Amino acid sequence: MPDSTSFDPILLVSASTQNSRRNFLFGTAAAFAGVVAAGIAADSVHTLLDPDAVLAQTTLTPDAALKELMDGNRRFASGNTTAHTHDLNILKQHLVEKQEPFAAVLSCADSRVPVEIVFDQTLGHLFVTRVAGNIITPEIVGSLEYGVAVLGTKVILVLGHSNCGAVKAAVAGKAVPGQISTLYAHLQPAVDEAGPDYKAATKANAKIQAKLLSQASTVVSEKIKEGQLKVVAGYYDIGSGVVTLLG
Ligand SMILES: [Zn+2]
Repeated sequence: MPDSTSFDPILLVSASTQNSRRNFLFGTAAAFAGVVAAGIAADSVHTLLDPDAVLAQTTLTPDAALKELMDGNRRFASGNTTAHTHDLNILKQHLVEKQEPFAAVLSCADSRVPVEIVFDQTLGHLFVTRVAGNIITPEIVGSLEYGVAVLGTKVILVLGHSNCGAVKAAVAGKAVPGQISTLYAHLQPAVDEAGPDYKAATKANAKIQAKLLSQASTVVSEKIKEGQLKVVAGYYDIGSGVVTLLG
């Protein structure tokens, strides 16, 4: 392990999950406990982060951050988006160097789920991670922990979507080329829970991945406990453009 003077916050935060790779594949309650035990204390993360690297953070509460996100989706779904115009002004005024993301979103890689557009948010305001099936992996956890611990995001939304090819493939369980089937293990708990109904499996998966993140990351769980962060699951309907929060 490098000494504290040369710590890269990104490497540091993601290192907390490295011992937990095996546990993610099983997704059991016992595995969650193992992941938490393997993580490092959130306080030590804060201590070791370089204060100079911490940029301005949003002052929104978690509830206000979630409202801002959902208000943006309402603008998008009703055809009243504003972010694009603001983006052009931000570029013209060279303000893009600054980022102050109030929300993080873990979405599917599907080309029909462009997150900033779906939530009508301008440059610098969403911290987005994407992977087929919006699954939690150690690298995704590390990225989201960076968003929370360094950038100060107040809400994390795990976003499933209609017509998700990854979930459909996992439900079908057929042989696929290359390493595509590595996604199946992550999606299997949702398939087990929801059965062959892939829409129900998609919703179950978003909730399972959100729960997994909340329990597997000490950074995330500590912030939740302090009332500084909310982790929620949602479902994006490609046909209507509407995002629905899943309770
Ligand atoms: Zn998908």
